[in-house]
Amino acid sequence: MNTKKGVKAKIVIVGAGPSGIAAASKLFQNGFDNVTILEAENRIGGRVYTDQLGDYSIDFGGQWVHGEDGNMAFELANPHGLIDKSNEPWTEFVDTYYDSSGNRLDSHVEKSISNFFSDHVQNSQDKRFKSIGEYATKMFDQQFGSESDIFKFRDQYLYHLERHATTMKSAET
Ligand SMILES: Cc1cc2nc3c(=O)[nH]c(=O)nc-3n(C[C@H](O)[C@H](O)[C@H](O)COP(=O)(O)OP(=O)(O)OC[C@H]3O[C@@H](n4cnc5c(N)ncnc54)[C@H](O)[C@@H]3O)c2cc1C
Repeated sequence: MNTKKGVKAKIVIVGAGPSGIAAASKLFQNGFDNVTILEAENRIGGRVYTDQLGDYSIDFGGQWVHGEDGNMAFELANPHGLIDKSNEPWTEFVDTYYDSSGNRLDSHVEKSISNFFSDHVQNSQDKRFKSIGEYATKMFDQQFGSESDIFKFRDQYLYHLERHATTMKSAET
């Protein structure tokens, strides 16, 4: 198939994660039919990876489609009935936290650390600190140093945060 300029293009995409699949999809939609995706793994999807655990499907990576307009994941999945249009704007996100014994934390503690994440950690760009970890530790100590019911979870929470950040960003934090 020709491009708009009449040049026959042979295109190679490296990686069959969402970016590679979206790029290939757009290219096909625009008439490029000589597209090859190279993938190092034995599956497609990259960091979006669903597998079976017993009777359940588990997402080991991405699981939320953030937004509909201009979102390639939504555009790909919606016509196949895999994801619905949202009727309501996202108003509230509810976190639940459990300790390592599986006990749900007290609602005051849960709410406090959930707010801590959204107020300080998410999208943190404070340049005074070398890393999100250093920033979060200082802020946690400052905010909860005198609240023993929350402060006792300090190390567990910071460990959880480190794991969360490294899986989401896939980079040193
Ligand atoms: C735990 C977790 C939860 C997440 N939750 C969400 C979520 O809810 N919503 C959301 O929107 N995002 C989420 N993300 C982020 C989302 O998964 C990534 O933004 C997305 O996968 C990035 O897509 P990508 O195609 O750019 O890269 P990747 O998904 O990393 O895909 C890259 C692909 O390229 C392949 N590759 C790399 N190098 C080569 C090579 N040299 N040759 C051949 N193949 C190669 C890799 O094997 C991989 O398959 C989450 C990520 C993680 C880890």
